[in-house]
Amino acid sequence: MIIQLKRRASQADIQKTVARLKQLAVETGANIRYHTVQGEELPVIAVKASGADIAKIQEERLRQLDCVEDIKRIADPYKLASKSYLDRRTVRVGDIEIGDDRLCIIAGPCAVEDEKQILQAAREVKTAGADMLRAGAYKPRTSPYSFQGLEENGLKLLKLAKEETGLPIVTEITDPRNIQMYLHYGIDVYQVGARNCQNYDLLKALTALHESSAAVLLKRGMATTLDELMNAAEYLLSGNVRNVMLCLRGIKGIDLKHTRNSIDTGDISVLIQSCNIPIIYDPSHACGKRRFINDTSLGAIGHGAHGLMLEAHPNPESALSDGPQSLYTAKDIDSTSGLARVIQNARRYYGFRRNLTGG
Ligand code: PEP
Ligand code: MN
Repeated sequence: MIIQLKRRASQADIQKTVARLKQLAVETGANIRYHTVQGEELPVIAVKASGADIAKIQEERLRQLDCVEDIKRIADPYKLASKSYLDRRTVRVGDIEIGDDRLCIIAGPCAVEDEKQILQAAREVKTAGADMLRAGAYKPRTSPYSFQGLEENGLKLLKLAKEETGLPIVTEITDPRNIQMYLHYGIDVYQVGARNCQNYDLLKALTALHESSAAVLLKRGMATTLDELMNAAEYLLSGNVRNVMLCLRGIKGIDLKHTRNSIDTGDISVLIQSCNIPIIYDPSHACGKRRFINDTSLGAIGHGAHGLMLEAHPNPESALSDGPQSLYTAKDIDSTSGLARVIQNARRYYGFRRNLTGG
């Protein structure tokens, strides 16, 4: 259930509504949980309980309150993420509006490796037409012997790349204790990686971002269901972080001989029908091979993706991580192993699809 309050509702109105809600729960023995959040336009109280418990709450007794605008019963376990609450939300990062008319392209190497590499990547990614630069400073790797990232020094270099190119920065956060450091370096988008999709302590800690303009890019875990993903996003939304994007990146499947993961582009269509959050697709981690990136990107757009996250490196053969799936940042426009061509194709196809579907 979502209780929407009137536009001018004061703190006292919110408290009055919560008090009435609690009173109704006590009277009926309903076991409920609630969050008060600033909704897209109006302040809202999201109430969650089992179907039987929520049915006990008498809507009329809440509607009696002058400050209540509307009450929506939402069957989905996720409330604020649900399409029944809000048709769609857009996310703003700097001048970029994600989930709207323009396809959002996030690109960059898997990891920040050194100053020369990240500055070259940043310049070339910008020239190729990307909107944001992405690279990892803290890398959660399967093997402890693999390159683990430059850590704080990586964040410093990303700040430098942003100062030079003006591109907003996307980078992964792995540890709640680092949030203040990331804020200090002006990180624009906090990527929650596949391994942390259901790390609820991290998600709860990230609600500290609600007072900043930072956004969160929540990646699907490799064996995470769509409902689990939307519930994970609900942790952020119910903590007042409204700038949330979801990112699909392939899942574990039965045949991983040819691609790194099972390509889950079809799930974009499903998500778009169930939830209101913009969807980014990451073909790089889904495919694991450069030669599939162009087609998979177009497939993702065909299913309605609002953006792509593409790994691209100035010299993939010498990349410290994920070279085989990285596009060349500066290969000429005729090659689909180059970032510029993939972006050009993706933008054209996005426009074409919008004309076909009417948006
Ligand atoms: C990454 O984005 O570089 C990464 C490690 O991805 P994932 O969390 O999806 O495995
Ligand atoms: Mn990677």
